[in-house]
Amino acid sequence: MKITRLTTYHAAPRWLFLKVETDEGITGWGEPVIEGRARSVEAAVHELSGYVIGKDPARINDLWQTMYRAGFYRGGAILMSAIAGIDQALWDIKGKALGKPVYELLGGLVRDSMKTYRWVGGDRPSDIIDQMRGYRELGFDTFKFNGTEEMKLIDSPRAVDAAVAKVAEIRAAFGNEIDFGIDFHGRVGAPMAKVLLRELEPFKPLFVEEPVLPELAEYYPRLAASSPIPLAAGERMYSRFEFKHVLAAGGLSMLQPDLSHAGGITECVKIAAMAEAYDVALAPHCPLGPVALAACLQVDLVSHNAVLQEQSIGIHYNEGADLLDYVINKDDFRCIDGSIAALPKPGLGVEINEEMLVRANQNPPDWRNPVWRHADGSVAEW
Ligand SMILES: [Mg+2]
Repeated sequence: MKITRLTTYHAAPRWLFLKVETDEGITGWGEPVIEGRARSVEAAVHELSGYVIGKDPARINDLWQTMYRAGFYRGGAILMSAIAGIDQALWDIKGKALGKPVYELLGGLVRDSMKTYRWVGGDRPSDIIDQMRGYRELGFDTFKFNGTEEMKLIDSPRAVDAAVAKVAEIRAAFGNEIDFGIDFHGRVGAPMAKVLLRELEPFKPLFVEEPVLPELAEYYPRLAASSPIPLAAGERMYSRFEFKHVLAAGGLSMLQPDLSHAGGITECVKIAAMAEAYDVALAPHCPLGPVALAACLQVDLVSHNAVLQEQSIGIHYNEGADLLDYVINKDDFRCIDGSIAALPKPGLGVEINEEMLVRANQNPPDWRNPVWRHADGSVAEW
């Protein structure tokens, strides 16, 4: 079998799909994208296509190493996301060619289904609580929301109190009936992260995500030493070579590699195995589309340390399309009590409605994250 063509499709809300075709009629799908930089990743995919067109798609390990090493310069959000999407499509092709789901090719299931959590947008506690009530009725009991809006490097106790009051109100509304992670989203600097973690401790969050930016990872062990709340990060780390530093330094309890950012399935199973050796949990990041989610599930289903899967059904970013709009086999992704059963179909287990993507691509989205500013006009982390 030979790879013949790579085709990309932009689609709402902010996604990029990749179709990899072969001379035997089997096609694979990937989702190579950085949210807000879809065109940069698309250019990288087509630049990398020279390494894969004409090659045997079965040799995923060799193609991965070629894409990673052959360019001399490597790593980072754009290149690793491009590799990730191509890698996903190669696993999809391999599974379809062999008639098996990818998790069978990775050694088989360690669990029958994967627990997922719901993102809850909105900043007013009453909005968050109302949404959680609705999701509770659908069987979800685990949630994530943003901990704070923009925060200055040293901020007033008023800002801290507002963030804590929101969490207190949510905990009071549900008691111990629900679990929630709180995403600091890299908006909080090291000095305030220390204060916020201390103040949030009584409300028992399941984890705090990106307590500080990943480029300040030296603070993860220091913050972990000052708080019993499990710390999570990883959506802005792109290879096992980056993850090894945070694992060796300690401090994180949960890694959140993104299957569309960190080199795909080939790389993320290795990151998951490294985390297991440090007794660190896995909870792949996935505010993206159905191919990315299917790739995450393949890794979760073979990784003993996978505890939670993010998924974007109804997420506040999904304007113009929702998670399963481009999926034919929607039933396979049904969440029962918040969990998705092992996807039964060969390959990644997702059947893409290409006609819809062709139509979507005629009116491509141009999603950008907002640029936030502090009251004095300086740029704030979003
Ligand atoms: Mg996050």
